[in-house]
Amino acid sequence: MKPFTYVLPHTLAEAHTAAKKAGAVLKGAGIDLVDRLKERIEAPPEVVNLLPLKNDLAGIADDGGGLRIGALTTLRQIAEAAALQGPAFGAVRIAAGLTATPLVRNRATLGGNLLQLARCWYLRSAAFGCLHGGKGPTCLAMTGENRYHSILGWHDCVRVHPSNLAPALLACGAEYTTFFDGKQERRPLAALFPDEPTAQKAEHTLRDGEILVAIHLPKPSGDVRSTYQETREKDSFDWATTAAAVQVTLQDGTITDASIVLGAVSPVPRPRAEAAKSLIGKKPGDAAFLKAAEMAVAGASPLSQNAYKLSLCKAIVRAALTEVTR
Ligand SMILES: Cc1cc2nc3c(=O)[nH]c(=O)nc-3n(C[C@H](O)[C@H](O)[C@H](O)COP(=O)(O)OP(=O)(O)OC[C@H]3O[C@@H](n4cnc5c(N)ncnc54)[C@H](O)[C@@H]3O)c2cc1C
Repeated sequence: MKPFTYVLPHTLAEAHTAAKKAGAVLKGAGIDLVDRLKERIEAPPEVVNLLPLKNDLAGIADDGGGLRIGALTTLRQIAEAAALQGPAFGAVRIAAGLTATPLVRNRATLGGNLLQLARCWYLRSAAFGCLHGGKGPTCLAMTGENRYHSILGWHDCVRVHPSNLAPALLACGAEYTTFFDGKQERRPLAALFPDEPTAQKAEHTLRDGEILVAIHLPKPSGDVRSTYQETREKDSFDWATTAAAVQVTLQDGTITDASIVLGAVSPVPRPRAEAAKSLIGKKPGDAAFLKAAEMAVAGASPLSQNAYKLSLCKAIVRAALTEVTR
């Protein structure tokens, strides 16, 4: 690891000023970032630790219109939060509780989870010249070892978005607030991820030095339920191979609103709007769920080693819809 200046800010403004310097990086718990420094795929001159700002940036509270989850809230706090115990936000609770290991969940922050670098082995090794890292001419995974890579919505780079929380929060209609140049700005969570995730673009759309402050969940109205399912090779200490978060609203036994978001299959978390729309006006049942699951993977173009993700994806979408409407 190359030496760097370590900044412990007292205020958001101080953190932002330091993080705007060329090459500086922000740090939550450092689980992803320190890995990247140790692998020597990044060598920032300055690391700005956000943890001294926990008083402002951690915790879950009712903000009047819904729930505000601070960016420094740990995954364990989210998994165990009383405020998230109802059926509407089951997806968020479950996604946090399935992430990594108890040790990681005790430290890892919501912000760091949403903004972590993709787990592509070519991207994460200094030994390879990867298009996403800007160090090589092509995406090596496209023709190389690609069993964990994208099957949907990829362009010139087939990395997958690794965050469990991203699809869960998207399915639940989350928004996010950031701090930049003295101002807080609030946007729909979908805006945190690039529309067209090419190799030149980062996993997220934050500007240099922009700080993720909080995630907001809307107050549920009516019989709103959500859940999250994923597949992985190991029960713990592993990332998902496919993930699906669903949220439905039921009225008199009919689905009146739905969202389906896939994770681990595309360079960004992927809302599947058409699949979700197909459920509206339907009674819960296997025929509707099978159709939605098929539609959720419509247009997929798997690589040489990852067509297995198609059937897994369909299975977890169907299972999640069955579970949430039971
Ligand atoms: C063994 C293992 C298994 C794992 N399995 C999973 C899994 O199954 N699913 C999953 O989703 N994740 C998994 N992870 C990843 C883990 O959840 C993330 O590494 C962790 O959440 C990152 O959080 P952090 O606070 O340590 O972020 P950091 O490492 O501190 O930061 C990560 C990135 O986010 C940026 N950042 C952090 N906070 C902010 C902020 N507030 N504003 C702006 N930028 C910010 C940093 O600059 C950095 O680029 C696993 C990790 C390990 C080690």
